[in-house]
Amino acid sequence: VPLSFSGKVAVVTGAAGNIGLAVATRLASQGADLALLDVDAAKLEQARATLLEHDVRINIYTCDVTDDEQVRQTVETVVAELGQIDFLFNNAGYQGAFAPIQEYPAADFARVMQINVCGAFHVLRHVSRHMVARKSGGIINTASMAGVQGPPNMAAYGASKFAIIGLTEVAAKDLAPYNIRVNAISPAFMGPGFMWDRQVELQAKAGSQYFSTDPKEVAQQMIGSIPMRRYGNINEIPGVVAFLFSDDSSYMTGVNLPISGG
Ligand code: NAD
Repeated sequence: VPLSFSGKVAVVTGAAGNIGLAVATRLASQGADLALLDVDAAKLEQARATLLEHDVRINIYTCDVTDDEQVRQTVETVVAELGQIDFLFNNAGYQGAFAPIQEYPAADFARVMQINVCGAFHVLRHVSRHMVARKSGGIINTASMAGVQGPPNMAAYGASKFAIIGLTEVAAKDLAPYNIRVNAISPAFMGPGFMWDRQVELQAKAGSQYFSTDPKEVAQQMIGSIPMRRYGNINEIPGVVAFLFSDDSSYMTGVNLPISGG
């Protein structure tokens, strides 16, 4: 039986996206109240609509995580409206371009860093300030296997996810005295859907020695590189997140859990 999160308040960023919504759904089903943050207001409203069957409070906040002041105000509003923040799923992210480093567009590199690294940092610092005052909390950052082993043609994304794993280790140390655990999850190839298709198509277009130029073959090459010989389903992520928020993981902090099929 999954542990109850009844009475807990969870902040989820990138909540209108695939992984954010899947995790929000799981947390709601375990009784947590939700503060859903995303930059895309329309998608956020749709996400909320899919969660209404759960008997929990669900507030949505349009928020661009790259804007530190906007994040500060949003976190303040969440605390005023929902009373507290127990969990943070720090998950908003952007994959960026696919190009070898010598051709990688500088503007896109900066944008990926702004969203994936600075954005995650802004949310982490404002939410953790609140948690420090309460001397309690759980934080999970969405990294990626691209932050464990650098993938070809993904300079910005790879660097940004290495940074997230670093940020997780630092925050785990800084926040341990306050009874706040900070961990990361690292999904690898997830499918089916837009992210998978985009990745396959753009790796083919990048035309490197690592992948075929035919997207169908790229898909097979990617799957062939996974010991379990399949991509992961989005629904294989929320249980891991719930575990890391729960007391079942009470002695785990600063770790990065791969969700990668081996
Ligand atoms: P997604 O594109 O479906 O969701 C990302 C969400 O983040 C979107 O709703 C988007 O609007 C939001 N977002 C983007 N920029 C934002 C900003 N500046 N402020 C606030 N919100 C913003 O993608 P996803 O697959 O759900 O990805 C979620 C996380 O998982 C990301 O950090 C991603 O890097 C990571 N990840 C995904 C995969 C995968 O294959 N899907 C694999 C490894 C890691």
